[in-house]
Amino acid sequence: MTAETATIELRGVRKSFGPVDVIHKLDLLVKGGEFVVFVGPSGCGKSTLLRMIAGLEDVTDGDILIAGRDVTDLDPAKRGIAMVFQSYALYPHMSVRENLAFGLEIAKVPAAEIRRQVDAAAEVLKIGPLLDRRPGQLSGGQRQRVAIGRAIVRKPLVFLFDEPLSNLDAELRVSMRAEIARLHRELGNTMIYVTHDQTEAMTLADRIVVLRDGRIEQVGSPRAVYENPANLFVAGFIGSPR
Ligand code: ADP
Ligand code: MG
Repeated sequence: MTAETATIELRGVRKSFGPVDVIHKLDLLVKGGEFVVFVGPSGCGKSTLLRMIAGLEDVTDGDILIAGRDVTDLDPAKRGIAMVFQSYALYPHMSVRENLAFGLEIAKVPAAEIRRQVDAAAEVLKIGPLLDRRPGQLSGGQRQRVAIGRAIVRKPLVFLFDEPLSNLDAELRVSMRAEIARLHRELGNTMIYVTHDQTEAMTLADRIVVLRDGRIEQVGSPRAVYENPANLFVAGFIGSPR
């Protein structure tokens, strides 16, 4: 299930809500197949940035390119991205299989292809035995797996994760973190992952983007950022115990 990979390029991207700038002119190039983590304290603009890449939020200024194509004004559904949120609303009256298939049915994908996609996603996520259950019969971790499965079946070029593990307890977060790392190794897609948890960032990222008040403070490998923080803010944030 190895995907073609896509670069993501932000060129002078800015976002204001009324008079307030929440993302200042920001440039970033994410390489194809890279796992990039946006990390920073609550309110620094991580979700806003991710939502602009997804097309769920208008860009005030600047351009966003995915796989070399300018998507700044493109419909979210046409960007080749899938997003996984912290609060994953599964359809309670549908089985796991139906939850996974639903988006593809709406897109009029043929039934045989839907079955193939759902089974492939279930295998990657090890949720095959759960396909006939309802969400109410699943644990929190299993539900989050199904939510990720809904992203996988759409075969996106790019996965965007917004604090997908925040609602899980500490132990489950650690095991799901390993699952997400494995997913990236197996699928090979470009992934951007947002978290305020520096441990998650350090363990998952190829590169970390440290954000503060809508600006990039530092970009680098976890090791480079840890060993050579650009300033006191980065040092304090990355180095602080959780
Ligand atoms: P993070 O995800 O890093 O916690 P957000 O991107 O959610 O941060 O928010 C960044 C800033 O933008 C915050 O100050 C937040 O209050 C503000 N903000 C986010 N969404 C809106 C909105 N729809 N209207 C006005 N302000 C917003
Ligand atoms: Mg957020």
